[in-house]
Amino acid sequence: METKHKKLTSKAGLTIPKDIRLAAGFAGGMAVDIEKTADGIMIRKHRPTCCYCGSVDNVRSIKGRDTCRNCAEEIIEEVKTAYGSV
Ligand SMILES: [Zn+2]
Repeated sequence: METKHKKLTSKAGLTIPKDIRLAAGFAGGMAVDIEKTADGIMIRKHRPTCCYCGSVDNVRSIKGRDTCRNCAEEIIEEVKTAYGSV
């Protein structure tokens, strides 16, 4: 695919060219992850990441926080210790 040249908006915004967006499967309004790399900036589809350990495996939102199964199980054990079994 040919390299496109674009200018950032005055607020550093960027519209991804339609052909690149469609080829990559990105849709308007979709959540993305943005990461600095050695070569520049990487934009990829959002992957929920555990807010406690950074894992992307078996992550679900619990009380509004993305949490992996391992951390959820640790939290359950801490709750049992702190409050007693329910
Ligand atoms: Zn975790």
